[in-house]
Amino acid sequence: MDARPAADATPLDRAQFPVLERRIGRGGDRPLVYLDSAATSLVPLRVTEAVTRFLHTSCANIHRGAHMLAEEATDAYECAREHLAAHLGVDDPARVVFTHGATESLNLAALGWAEHALGPGDVVAVAEDNHHANIVCWQMLAERRGVEIAWIPVDADGQLDYGEWCRIAERGPKLAALAQQSNVVGWEQPDLARILDDARLAGAFTALDGAQAAVHGPVDLAALPVDFYALSAHKMMGLTGIGALACSPRAFERMRPVFGGGGMVAQVDACGYVPACGPQGFEAGTPAIAAAVAWNEALRMLEEAGMERVRRHVAALALRAQRGLSELPGVRVLGGPTPASASLVSFTVDDVHPHDASAALDAEGVLVRAGHHCAKPLHAALGARASVRASFAGYSNDEDVDALLSAVARLVERRA
Ligand code: PMP
Repeated sequence: MDARPAADATPLDRAQFPVLERRIGRGGDRPLVYLDSAATSLVPLRVTEAVTRFLHTSCANIHRGAHMLAEEATDAYECAREHLAAHLGVDDPARVVFTHGATESLNLAALGWAEHALGPGDVVAVAEDNHHANIVCWQMLAERRGVEIAWIPVDADGQLDYGEWCRIAERGPKLAALAQQSNVVGWEQPDLARILDDARLAGAFTALDGAQAAVHGPVDLAALPVDFYALSAHKMMGLTGIGALACSPRAFERMRPVFGGGGMVAQVDACGYVPACGPQGFEAGTPAIAAAVAWNEALRMLEEAGMERVRRHVAALALRAQRGLSELPGVRVLGGPTPASASLVSFTVDDVHPHDASAALDAEGVLVRAGHHCAKPLHAALGARASVRASFAGYSNDEDVDALLSAVARLVERRA
């Protein structure tokens, strides 16, 4: 349990995260060990301060008023879009649509593009390691439009079956829906890059779920054959309530507005409406303006820390956790052998329900997630109904891993 490929000092300053200072337990004697960053990350002080500053100085609705505060608020919102586009390697911010989160982003791709572009008999390839967010919207599309879902299965280690994908690719799929990083096994599929390339060659569009990956490393959409890229701010030190769908030029051209209302129209009269050009056409109603300001600041923090550095740090923690857990009797780590770069570890403990395991860890101040993590098909393929998940972020440290390993070791002893 002591083999330490040391993770250096945390890339994100822990003092920025007041929740980490909480002491819990009956005597207030235990540090809080937050290992649920894959569900939602902690919010740093500088982000809440940026939001407070914005609300105290420039609070107004956007793209509507012509007064000073409305202009400042509009600038702040559009500035966040520009920053996010640059962060993701998208050269035109107009192709980055703000949504309420990754789930809505993927549904927007389904409703705004696939709904009219695909029809009966078209094949949609869906990777089995996806979160439900990148599965159910395509299943709903299949119900409405008669497309055929072709699963790209995973093996018992959680790796996509490349041979099966090749067979699907020969059938000329119209879309491949893939995860950039699994929220259960925690790593990027070794074949992801070539599946994306093959999909392009086969004439398919690609929808890549970046909800887990975007916080742990650089993303360069200019270098990836991705048509729809979905992500959520709350998994990258921002607030809940905002996410984005970044589109390729060809995808954006083919998108049609899904929600109608204020802000998304250029013209309305008794005969009909003309949608606004650009991302506004997809952002009906008042958006999450303060959350966009928060995301902008969170991106600054991540960039200052260095995305590569965050990636290395988190991967070192995940690897140590994975190795330590694998040494414990009766503990099974899902999805092995783990590729070097992961951000989390999911596991089961023989004869202990994941919810009970999570409750036992919680009693020791170690906060993990238990359940199927909205990835039931992947759990089924891995032969587990549910699991315990410990996930890391740029503020997690070696002590967090130690606390996890000790708490699980005690659980295993009690069970023996
Ligand atoms: N995809 C993945 C891989 C996720 O982990 C999550 C969040 N659990 C989502 C999509 C959905 O994100 P949100 O709930 O923010 O829409």
